[in-house]
Amino acid sequence: MVNLDLEPLSLPGLELKRPIIIAGPCSAETEEQVLETARQVAAQGVKLFRAGIWKPRTRPGAFEGVGSIGLPWLKRVKEETGLFVGTEVATGHHVYEALKHGIDILWIGARTSANPFAVQEVADALQGVNIPVLVKNPVNPDLELWIGAIERVNRAGVKKIAAIHRGFSSIDKSEYRNHPQWQIPIELRRRVPNLPIITDPSHITGKRELLFDVMQEAMDLNFDGLIIESHMCPEKAWSDASQQCTPVQLKEMLDKLVIRHHNI
Ligand code: PEP
Ligand code: MN
Repeated sequence: MVNLDLEPLSLPGLELKRPIIIAGPCSAETEEQVLETARQVAAQGVKLFRAGIWKPRTRPGAFEGVGSIGLPWLKRVKEETGLFVGTEVATGHHVYEALKHGIDILWIGARTSANPFAVQEVADALQGVNIPVLVKNPVNPDLELWIGAIERVNRAGVKKIAAIHRGFSSIDKSEYRNHPQWQIPIELRRRVPNLPIITDPSHITGKRELLFDVMQEAMDLNFDGLIIESHMCPEKAWSDASQQCTPVQLKEMLDKLVIRHHNI
């Protein structure tokens, strides 16, 4: 067992209870797209909003995020909708900028959590910061590396931590973009029992048609939440267009979900 010094996930005035739902576009593209998507997401009853500001692309040449100019857009989202906002950080500079703009939740992406030097840099910048930090599994199926990234963040004094299960890359073609390999987050839960696990069906499936089954599977496994990419106009998205759903489609799927409370 891995002993972490954790606190229950919470935000000012909001305790985060199962199922924790985080939704929003893969990337912040324009101020209008972020705000309108946020309004639609908030209208479905979701409380936590995601949008990538810095986008780590596997290959060069694709949209790499708007950068710091997008942070005031997320601040407006907070002010106008009351949503809590989260974004990905991959460097100490990202952490500094995000905190300066009042971002509520930070996450470490799958390409960063595979790199202990980068994780340590982010962790060092997080010293003494008491906001939720979510750690995605590394792109490769390496549970030790995932636990190591979580430990680095926790040793920096961050106590509100959750793991995000976003699936694992594989050379084999499958219907999924990233194979869920459910046994890995299940083993993570066994090793670190008090750590919440949030599943990311968007990056697992790569296709909006497949989202629901993965959402339901995560709930059947008693995982703690879901982070789902939702865009006001998915087919026009600048990144991950085929896996994003509209906020209305998201609500339809959430309404269909069967959420049992069981002790596994
Ligand atoms: C994302 O959340 O948009 C993202 C880049 O995800 P991942 O790090 O899981 O690939
Ligand atoms: Mn994405």
